[in-house]
Amino acid sequence: MLPRDPSNTTSSKSVTSKGPAQGLSTPIQFLKGVGPKLGFILGGRGIETVGDLLTFFPRAYEDRTKILTVNQLKDGQLVNVSVEVLKLRRIPLRKSGRMMVEVQCKDSTGVLNLKWFHFPRGMEARFLPGTEIMVTGTVKAFMGRPEILHPEISWSLQSQETNTGRVVPVYTEIEGVPSRTFRKILWEALQRNTQLIAEDLPQQYVQKHQLPTKKESIHSIHFPEEDEVEALVAFRSPGHQRLIYEEFFKFEYLVLRKRLNMERRFATPFGENGGSAEAKALEKVIPFSLTGDQKKAIAEILKDLGSDHPMNRLIQGDVGSGKTLVAFLTAAAVIAEGGQVALMVPTEILAEQHYKNAVKFFGGRLPAALLTGKTPGSERAVLQQKLANGQPMILIGTHALIEEPVQFKNLVYVMIDEQHRFGVEQRRILKTKGARKDGTRVLLPHTLILTATPIPRTLALTAYGDLHISTIKEMPPGRTPVKTHVVTPQKMGPAYNKIRQELKAGHQAYFIYPLIHEKEEDEDEKPKAVPAVQLKSAVAEAERLQKEVFPEFRVGLLHGQLRPDEKAEVMDRFKRKELDILVSTTVIEVGVDVANATVMVIEHAERFGLSQLHQLRGRVGRSNLESFCFLFTKSQLSEISTQRLGVLEQTHDGFKIAEADLEIRGPGEFLGTRQSGDLPFRMANLVRDRDWLLKAREDAEELLNTDSNLERPSNQELRRYFEREGKIQFERLGTS
Ligand code: ADP
Ligand code: MG
Repeated sequence: MLPRDPSNTTSSKSVTSKGPAQGLSTPIQFLKGVGPKLGFILGGRGIETVGDLLTFFPRAYEDRTKILTVNQLKDGQLVNVSVEVLKLRRIPLRKSGRMMVEVQCKDSTGVLNLKWFHFPRGMEARFLPGTEIMVTGTVKAFMGRPEILHPEISWSLQSQETNTGRVVPVYTEIEGVPSRTFRKILWEALQRNTQLIAEDLPQQYVQKHQLPTKKESIHSIHFPEEDEVEALVAFRSPGHQRLIYEEFFKFEYLVLRKRLNMERRFATPFGENGGSAEAKALEKVIPFSLTGDQKKAIAEILKDLGSDHPMNRLIQGDVGSGKTLVAFLTAAAVIAEGGQVALMVPTEILAEQHYKNAVKFFGGRLPAALLTGKTPGSERAVLQQKLANGQPMILIGTHALIEEPVQFKNLVYVMIDEQHRFGVEQRRILKTKGARKDGTRVLLPHTLILTATPIPRTLALTAYGDLHISTIKEMPPGRTPVKTHVVTPQKMGPAYNKIRQELKAGHQAYFIYPLIHEKEEDEDEKPKAVPAVQLKSAVAEAERLQKEVFPEFRVGLLHGQLRPDEKAEVMDRFKRKELDILVSTTVIEVGVDVANATVMVIEHAERFGLSQLHQLRGRVGRSNLESFCFLFTKSQLSEISTQRLGVLEQTHDGFKIAEADLEIRGPGEFLGTRQSGDLPFRMANLVRDRDWLLKAREDAEELLNTDSNLERPSNQELRRYFEREGKIQFERLGTS
């Protein structure tokens, strides 16, 4: 497949020479058929070079191998039909005064009408009677006759090889670039440059998985063979597999390299000089025994803390699985040897709760302090003095911890709870407070991140791939699974009866709403379309519940716009059973613990992610009382929503729920602040291509172990790729 054009024999870099330029780094406007204007548009979409164009992959495929006749057309079908133009008519539209264009066509079996409400200028002249065209589009039956609105037309004398009679790739639309034009310049780019596409995966892995070369893969992705239709449509063709694997492999190499880089830095080791013994001793003080998973997590963390390289670990486990306790016991090991520990949590309520537990559980044997926005100035000054003097303790607090005046003398262990609530920057500042000079070395603090959103395995390997992960699956004994029911408006009666029954028995209930006030965006601030339905709001519903539904019970209200002291006040009253019902937005989600609450009602449940619903549900079922979760929904629930919410009725396993969430809603739900730019996959899909990810991870790990700096000849092309992309400065990964 050598370029046929003789002018192409010039050097691949010579963009300035006359004639069509060649080379993957050639600016796109030098490609034949592009020019400055189109080049500008493409550049705006990140396609600046020929190489960019070739790696702008199709998002789907259309099967155009089948060409139907007019009498075979059925309503709603996406079809290709070959017809002859009869005539073109302009029909004024009554309402807007604009014109509709109708082109009547036929084949030997019948008549087909094509219609345009926006007709491309200058196209009229091409529909001369008798012209043969290929039409692609979705059939609509109009007054018994088939018609196609806004079809795609191939003029049969033209390059059919790029457009019809085969499987056609569909690209994300670029405004101002018709798909025909796009395919034409792609064809041009491929014809001239295929030979220049270098194999940058190490040969051993290409062979191991019997993958096609990069060159072949890119070619077949854009201009596929007909006999692969099914595989292509499913993104399972050999070319797809190769490019998916390549994407994962490169990503995993980088993420593991980042981890290795961190692991080669320095930290103060803890635990060996009595710290671990103190952790063991404190374990005996608490009024229950740890679960197997808690013990395992503690062992993993203590091992990391004992190293003179910084720990970077994430501990994940369902709400109530006992992560906080793990954090406390490992903190004890560090404090016993004179270190300072910080635990940063997202809300004041949570900070206070943790602080009380830290004192209560260990009978005062764990030196702890609390710092939030509420801490009075005098107390704050004393505390700051102690921290600056290096007094060993665990400081529990909100983002007040990262404020300027708080200086630790010896912060060696940093813990961040519900990490998705914090930004990258906040986490970084806290860690920076623990960085210190030790002669010529910089010592970094050990870091533990706690999350109650179970992370699907594929995300653990990608978005969190630079962290070590401890998992707590086993729940402490005495938890009763929460009976969960999806409740459509028609079935509300029995649900309300049950709720009333629970309240009468002296138990308490949560009612959760997506909004604070009527007519506003979700408290979560997820960019959603403006809701067409009237959403119930916490404020309005709290009033209605109190006045109309449960006048005999006491209703309280909690939401994010209350002042911190107001929030704490409401929470305290609920804890003291001075309130029977707590109406809230999702601010309640984080870590609240009231064992007497047995009912969780969530309104507009279909609007929440499954993992979030699961977290909310985790607020009840915190004792041996039977608990209930009612997921109230709108009446016309879509099939997908029914299926999604059904998962919650069936299982309590946060990991299964997370996997289902990932499948249905994609990774965005889990990533929070990690979202942006962290998962740059163009071709690979975490759900569909899970198996390839696991293989790529294993191979990347092997490569890092055998040739971490990519010095072997067989890895030079890969190294060049990373350097060209600016992904790695190779000198940084030293062997010191
Ligand atoms: P998480 O932070 O994972 O949501 P916590 O550490 O706050 O969970 O624990 C939730 C509740 O379970 C707390 O009241 C805690 O005292 C209790 N708990 C933790 N571990 C155990 C255990 N092994 N046995 C019994 N109760 C436990
Ligand atoms: Mg917690």
